[in-house]
Amino acid sequence: MNKLGVDDNEKNACLKCGREQGFLGFSTASLCYFCRAEEERERYQKMTDGEVDAAIANIIGDIKKISDGEETYEDFIGLLSLKNINTAAIAKAAFENNVFFPSPIYRDAGADVRDGLVSLLEAPNCEEANDVLECLAEIGDEVAAEAFRRFDEQKPQWRQKLYGSVVRYLQYTDHWMDESGAIIPLYFEPCYEFIAGPKTNKPAAWIGGRLRELCGRCGCELMDLLVIDGDHERLKHLELSGTVSVPICPNCATKTVIRYSPEGKARMEIVRASTDENYFSEDMLSRLTAGRLVLSSEPMPPFFGFCPQEVARIGGRGNWEQTPQFEDCPDCGRKMKLLAQLAWSRLLDDFAEGALFVEICPDCKTIAVIHQQT
Ligand SMILES: [Zn+2]
Ligand SMILES: [Zn+2]
Ligand SMILES: [Zn+2]
Repeated sequence: MNKLGVDDNEKNACLKCGREQGFLGFSTASLCYFCRAEEERERYQKMTDGEVDAAIANIIGDIKKISDGEETYEDFIGLLSLKNINTAAIAKAAFENNVFFPSPIYRDAGADVRDGLVSLLEAPNCEEANDVLECLAEIGDEVAAEAFRRFDEQKPQWRQKLYGSVVRYLQYTDHWMDESGAIIPLYFEPCYEFIAGPKTNKPAAWIGGRLRELCGRCGCELMDLLVIDGDHERLKHLELSGTVSVPICPNCATKTVIRYSPEGKARMEIVRASTDENYFSEDMLSRLTAGRLVLSSEPMPPFFGFCPQEVARIGGRGNWEQTPQFEDCPDCGRKMKLLAQLAWSRLLDDFAEGALFVEICPDCKTIAVIHQQT
């Protein structure tokens, strides 16, 4: 017992869901991470139009604080993720105050703000070139594309301070430049969440199926990470046909490539493995393959998965744990597109870290699965 009369060894079960939280450090949270995130989500989702407008006005009033990761930032990300707010007014205020982070502020920026960003980059020693390029990439229209092509060719002085080429900055906002010089998205705008539910009513996709086959490297049982009904109305935009499965080894693979035979049979190849030892318990495997997560019928905004982060979804922007990692298709060399982001914590229903990123080549239909963790 400590002086407050609490047993130090007492387990910290969440008051709402009963999950054991383990060591809490100095936190006195009575709700677990998931339940707190769920409450945050409900708070934003329940906001009326008037409350959203008031919150946007607050963000604009505090625009200089938006980059610091605190309340203004969190409100912006919450409203973008769950209310899909139009960011034009916030972008205008940000630009007037030299605020260039986080770049999604500029998604809906007007032509005057966009042209303002381009003119900042005209200065040979633009201090903020890194951030300004990302903001311009968010806008991604023909004027932005022209600027990217021009600066890539001209190689202004500020280029020396970049991490990679000018065009590479498109990738930091899930975009790329196609052969015609246009900016194209490397993600699918329609976004759906995986939620707990029975596999009745023909879901468009679901998580987890056992393959009853062992990984040749680590001995863990292989699984179908994801099964997609390519003919389902909700997923027509993916241009897949028939049922597409995504087999992986859940234990060892940090990068897996999956190719399909003409009959649609999946063949996986572990390209990069993290370990040769099987750390995956039978209990984890059971939770992962129970098929309890199915695709919802409710569409979500493209930034869904930024607040809360611990979700599983098909479509939408990548909430990368590290630098955005768009693979070159191993078959045609073109950039692959982000198909799904699946948080391990959601897949396993525990406090696991990291996420799986599923990418697809729109032309070859080859799939890559990558693990990222902070
Ligand atoms: Zn809880
Ligand atoms: Zn393995
Ligand atoms: Zn390809």
